[in-house]
Parts: sequence; C-alpha cells; structure tokens
Amino acid sequence: MFDKLLIANRGEIALRIQRACKALGIGCVQAYSEADTGADYVRTAEQAICVGAAPSSRSYLDKAAMLLAAEVTGAQAIHPGYGFLSENAEFARWVEEAGLIFVGPLSGVIRRMGDKICAKRAMIEAGVPCVPGFVGELTATRDALEIIRSIGFPVIIKAAGGGGGRGMRVVREEKDLMAAIAATQQEAEKAFANGTVYVERYLDNPRHVEIQILADKYGNCVWLGARDCSVQRRHQKVIEEAPPVDVPQRLLADVGSRCVAACKALGYVGLGTFEFLFEDNQLFFIEMNTRLQVEHTVTEMITGLDLVQYQLRVARGERLDIEQKDISFVGHSIECRINAEDPLDFRPSPGRVDFWQPPGGPGLRVDTHVSSGYVVPAFYDSMIAKLISFGRTREEAIARMQGGLRQFVVEGIKTNIPLHLSILEQDKFRKGAVSIHFLEKWLASK
Ligand code: ADP
Repeated sequence: MFDKLLIANRGEIALRIQRACKALGIGCVQAYSEADTGADYVRTAEQAICVGAAPSSRSYLDKAAMLLAAEVTGAQAIHPGYGFLSENAEFARWVEEAGLIFVGPLSGVIRRMGDKICAKRAMIEAGVPCVPGFVGELTATRDALEIIRSIGFPVIIKAAGGGGGRGMRVVREEKDLMAAIAATQQEAEKAFANGTVYVERYLDNPRHVEIQILADKYGNCVWLGARDCSVQRRHQKVIEEAPPVDVPQRLLADVGSRCVAACKALGYVGLGTFEFLFEDNQLFFIEMNTRLQVEHTVTEMITGLDLVQYQLRVARGERLDIEQKDISFVGHSIECRINAEDPLDFRPSPGRVDFWQPPGGPGLRVDTHVSSGYVVPAFYDSMIAKLISFGRTREEAIARMQGGLRQFVVEGIKTNIPLHLSILEQDKFRKGAVSIHFLEKWLASK
C-alpha cells in the first residue's frame, strides 16, 4: 500500500500518471530535470523535485538521484513510466532494497525478460510460439554456420540486451555472416554494455502485433486484447491501432491465454506486453516489455479500462476485480504519435510552441503536456502528443483521426502531422494489415 508516489518520468506520460493518481487519491511527486523546470505538469503537480541537469544521463536516468528524490519527499513508490529507467532491473532492485515499491514487476522478472534469450526460453516453456531460431548465445565460430544453416537464410542477428530497435542486423548470405556477428556484438557492447547476440529467422514481410496483459500479486492475470504497431520507421512505432485487422480472434485468444500462463509461471505483476511478429496467419514472439507502453491508450479505448489506474492498483497490492470473461472489445481505435520533427527529413524540431490548439469532438482523445508557449527541449524524445481516435468501425476511427489531424494547430515548431495525414490517405493503409516495411517502402518511393 502507498499513498504517495514519485513520477520518475516526464512529458505526456508524467501527466497521464498524475491523472490516474488523482483519481485514486494517491499523492504525486513529480521528478524533473532543469530542462523541464517550466513545464505545466511540473508546476501543477502537488509536489515537484529537481533531480538534475538537462541531459537524461544526469537526471531521468540517474538512479541514485531518483531514489534520493523519493526518499527525501517521503514517496513510498516510484512509477518509471516508459523509456528511461522503466526496464532497468538494477534500478528496480535498488527501489526494492530501499523498502519502496517499484510500479512494475519484481526486479528479477525485469532482468529475466530484459535478456531476450532468457525471455525466449521462458516463452518456449510456457508454450508461447516464438520466431524459429537458436535460443542461446551466438559467437563467430564454425558452430554459428551450422546453427544458421539449420535455421535457413535470411536471419537476423540481435542483441540479447537490446532495445529501441537498435543492435540488429539482417544477414542474407553466408559470406556476410561472421562480419555481421562481430559488428552486432560490438554495437551491442557499446549501446547496452552487453555484447551477447543471438539469432533468429528473419521474417520478410511480417506485421507487428502485440498482446497486453495485466496481473496482480495473487496469481490473477488477464489479457486485454491485441494491438497492431506495424507502421514503423527505423523500428520505431509511428501509428498503432486496436484491434489488429484480420488477425483471427481464435488465434489471439489462444496465444493470449498462453501469455497469461507465462505470466503466472513468472510471477509477473503489473502491466506487460508480449510483442509478436505475425506472418502466414501465425504469431511469433519476439520480446516482452515489462512496463506501461506508449500505445496503451488504444487498448483503453476498446476495453473501456483505465490501464494506468489498474497498474497502480495492483502495485498497491489490490486484487484484480475483473476476470477474462468480463473483458470485451468494442469498436476500433488508432493512435498517431505527434512528434516535434520535420515531416520530410525527420530531423527533430525543438523550440518554442507559439500557438497550440489540439482538436476535439466525438471519438478523439489527446494525451499531451504541451500548451501554447511551451518550449520543447532538445534533450529528449521528440514525441509531444498522442492523438487517439475511436470509432464503431476502423473507417470511422480513420475519418475521425483525419478530422482531428486537420484541426490540430501547432505553430513555432514543425511536427509530423502532415506525414500522418498522408499515411492515412494511402490505399494500403486504409485497406489495413500493412507489414512493418510499409512506411519505409512508401517513404522511399515518394
Ligand atoms: P527492440 O527491443 O529493439 O524493439 P524487437 O525484438 O522488439 O527489438 O524488434 C524490433 C523490430 O525489429 C520489430 O518490430 C521488427 O520490425 C523487427 N524485427 C525483429 N525481429 C525480427 C525478425 N525475426 N524478423 C523480421 N523483423 C524483425
């Protein structure tokens, strides 16, 4: 149980967590960096504490500073949001050892799932289907060639400790294999301080489909449907939707219940996402995210549940008050990530927002911390808002999204709103079920 929580994150998700806390009567302490001093959500929080300088390594990623901030303000729990320290097993362990509550699964579970080889092993044990591959460390030796011949080209070499779409290399021919293993190891060592790599079959034209789960401390766990996040650029999601088009409900229900079984076996608590690639009517597990995700909103829209409130409630030790039979999916929801960036060359566009007027109306939701006069700092991720639409059908959700994007007025900085509008006009997108290569192929053909 806790009644005061430190928000160890910034931007729209900090505000989202503040709102959920208010509804539950939990007091909030907002951690912020020097670059975020002037942000509205920092000013309006019940309490706020500066945790360091603008670069995230000196504030939002500073484990000791965050823990100290919780201790000096008397917060009994820490919500890490997404990104930053949200999947940092060591930080979660520090929080536990300090006698505080980390809003998420136990540090041991984060560590296990953060190692993608371990995660795949755990999934295979639980009967969750995985991308065919070798579930162990790959090294640039003769054995590698044997392993990869048995999988069949093309393959993808991936960092076991990877994240954020980095540390991956596709290999199509034997002659490139050894150099690719060495290069991925080096990159992984540099980026994640863990040079371990593994290999799986490279699926040529998959979709990205993910399953949301929610678990309490008492072994109760439900799956909350699926999302399609195939519209990506450089492995970063741009548009997400729920439910995924043309993925058989029977398949989702089967795999969803296996995810639930995996969570029970792991002793998983909180929100979690199982990410899959979907090809030839099959789902193949790629990784688990042990945290709240940016795109949780589309699941909220079609289930009517407040996922952040549920996340806080199970962290407080409450028992889930819903069972699988209580969960149903209504309508269709789409989320566009609005970034402060040039819509043509994708360069970040930080600076002062001279005028900000988000859209409204039936079936539209805007999650943002921005208002007129806000200065987008250059130090962090460029996402400044999420525009979420809901409709009875996918067509209606698209139409409402288009209306919302056209109404959205942002002056002073560039945003990717024009890019979203042109994606939504594409026949392929409108038809639905695009692959993870759709956006990049279309951008290359423009
Ligand atoms: P990260 O943790 O960096 O996000 P993931 O394992 O989730 O890494 O993979 C990110 C993206 O890379 C996927 O959404 C997909 O686009 C691509 N990818 C990963 N594994 C494969 C694979 N076996 N075949 C094809 N594409 C893949």
